Amino acid sequence: MLAECAHVIIPDASELAMRYYKSGNILWILGQAWALIVPLLFLFTGFTGKLEKFSKAIGKNWFFTLVVYLVLFLGIFQLLSFPLDFYTDYLRQHSYGLSNQPLSRWFDNYGKSFLVTLITAIAFLWIFYLLLKKSPRRWWLYGSLVSMALSFFMIFIQPLWIDPLFNDFGPMKNKELEQQILSLADKAGIENGRVFEVDKSKDTKMVNAYVTGLGASNRIVLWDTTLQRLQPDQILFIMGHEMGHYVLHHIWWGFLYFSALSFFLFYATYRLASFLLHRYHRRFGFNDLSHIASLPLLLFIFSLLNLLTTPLTNAFSRYEEHEADRFGLEITQNNEAAGTAFLALQQENLANPRPGSIFRFWRSTHPPIGERVDFTNSYCPWAEGKPLKYGPLFKTQPAQPQ
Ligand SMILES: [Zn+2]
Repeated sequence: MLAECAHVIIPDASELAMRYYKSGNILWILGQAWALIVPLLFLFTGFTGKLEKFSKAIGKNWFFTLVVYLVLFLGIFQLLSFPLDFYTDYLRQHSYGLSNQPLSRWFDNYGKSFLVTLITAIAFLWIFYLLLKKSPRRWWLYGSLVSMALSFFMIFIQPLWIDPLFNDFGPMKNKELEQQILSLADKAGIENGRVFEVDKSKDTKMVNAYVTGLGASNRIVLWDTTLQRLQPDQILFIMGHEMGHYVLHHIWWGFLYFSALSFFLFYATYRLASFLLHRYHRRFGFNDLSHIASLPLLLFIFSLLNLLTTPLTNAFSRYEEHEADRFGLEITQNNEAAGTAFLALQQENLANPRPGSIFRFWRSTHPPIGERVDFTNSYCPWAEGKPLKYGPLFKTQPAQPQ
């Protein structure tokens, strides 16, 4: 028999939320298709070959040819993607009342994120092209090892160097709540836990919180919108969920998952790229993968494989999110607060609590809100004197409810 731990009822998605959901699906399909079509355009028009010749004429040596090509390729790519980006991230968010971000700030962030992409590409892509040149048969193996090291580095620096370019991260302003969060962290066995408040209200009205970084850069970040819209006990549950990610080492597991996946992605890219190049090199305008002109080909294959493996990645993520929910419930033992926190997430973020199975498969990194509330309503082993799954991890056993 199911325990009755709370009685939170999830309303159906509002008409507005359903419109947001349906149009979001169409935009997602468009975005995915566009990310595949643009590289194909570069390839089948032979433009990428011409772009490389032009880059060589300006850059002269191997490295600067690569740099000039990257600046031009990424610049054109961004221009072609601009209409869809602008509509999706700016116009649409405003028309649904989810944002009051000024246009200038949107452009500012858009430009900055382009620069971050460009600098990252220039800083790292040459390594892969050097491997392609020096080791035409084994580059996929060395490349996947390099990408592991690089992703480790990027996860580490993200909260320190990249995120602060876009927002201000500071200590929590509500000191009373901060104290409650820190004592919850203490119970979760987190020592020297870092909790940051970020000024996301400048960008969005949506609410969220997340865990980021590795080791010394590891931290929990709370959007200020969450602090404004949710009640303290709801925020405590959300923090309990985030602490679950932290204590259960989800960032490390995610890193391992992507490392394993990258072996497959690199190897499959190696095989497919060789096959396609052999077949179409005349149209593409280059005949060797180690030429920077091959970038759209590698990008196309990588995006395609990535899309095909998304359901697996999402299933992995949903499992972790479910366990973080369990951890949050066990440590706070406040099912009512958890359930109503999910309701607030549904309302503030215009979520569809019961999406269709295709959406779930391809787009849900989290269990749908409806399922999370069902779980919250039925999971409270402590009320029946049963052991907690994560109880042994807690520093002091949580007090039994009277
Ligand atoms: Zn989570």
